[in-house]
Amino acid sequence: MTSEPQYYELTDELIQDGYLKTPELIESFEHIDRADFVPDDQKEFAHCNTPLAIGFNQTISQPLSVAFMLELLQPKAGEHILDIGAGSGWQTAILADVVSKKTAEGTGVATDSELSLGSVVAVERVPELKAFSEVNIDKYGFIRQNIAQVVLGDGTKGYKNSAPYDKIIASASSEGDVPVLWKRQLKIGGRIVAPVGSSIVVIDKISKLKYTKKEYFGFNFTPLVVS
Ligand code: SAH
Repeated sequence: MTSEPQYYELTDELIQDGYLKTPELIESFEHIDRADFVPDDQKEFAHCNTPLAIGFNQTISQPLSVAFMLELLQPKAGEHILDIGAGSGWQTAILADVVSKKTAEGTGVATDSELSLGSVVAVERVPELKAFSEVNIDKYGFIRQNIAQVVLGDGTKGYKNSAPYDKIIASASSEGDVPVLWKRQLKIGGRIVAPVGSSIVVIDKISKLKYTKKEYFGFNFTPLVVS
C-alpha cells in the first residue's frame, strides 16, 4: 500500500477550513512541498499551519495566510506577477507553478496570456534569503526555465524593469497604504493583494487613476522594511 505524501494533509486542512477553493491553486499547493522551503531544523514542522523561522529574523508565512491571499489574488496561467518579500521562496514557487500551467481546460479557445508561459518576479532585501529562495524555487526548475526570478532590492519601490504586472502580492506589511509605485507598476484591470497594518487589502486598478479597495481584518505579518 502506498501512503499519500504528508503535505497533502496540509492542503486538505486548508480546503476543509475553507481557505483553499480554486482548483489550480489546490493543484499547486499539492505540487509544491513546503518542506522544500524551510531550513533542516524546521523540516519536521513544515506541514503545520504555522509560520516558521527561516533565519534573519524572518519567517515563512503561515499556510492559511498564503492560501487566503492567493485566493484573493486569483493568479492565472500566463500572467506576469510581482511578489514582494521572497523569503523562503515558497509563495513564489506556488505562483510560478500556477502561471506556467499551459492551458485553461474546457474553454476550447486559448486567450493571449494562455498561449505564453507566465512569469513571476520576486523582490527580497536580505541577500542570504535571496540566495536561499533561489535554491528552493529551483528545486522545481522555475529559475532555470525563466519562469521565476528573484531580485535583490527594496520592494517598496516595486520592480520597474519588469513592469507592468497583471498582479502584485506582498508578504510583508506596509503602514497606512501600499507603496504608490506598486499601483503605478500595475496594469489597468490588475490587482494588488497586500498586508497593510494587521489587515489584508485588495486593490483593483480600474483605470489609470481609479482604484477600488477592500479590507480584511485580523492578520499578522512581519513589517515591510522601508529604507
Ligand atoms: N512569502 C515569503 C514570506 C517571507 S516573510 C515566504 O513564504 O517565505 C517577508 C519577507 O519580506 C522577508 O524575507 C523580508 O526580508 C522581506 N522584506 C521585508 N521588507 C522588504 C522590502 N522592503 N523589500 C524586499 N523584501 C522585503
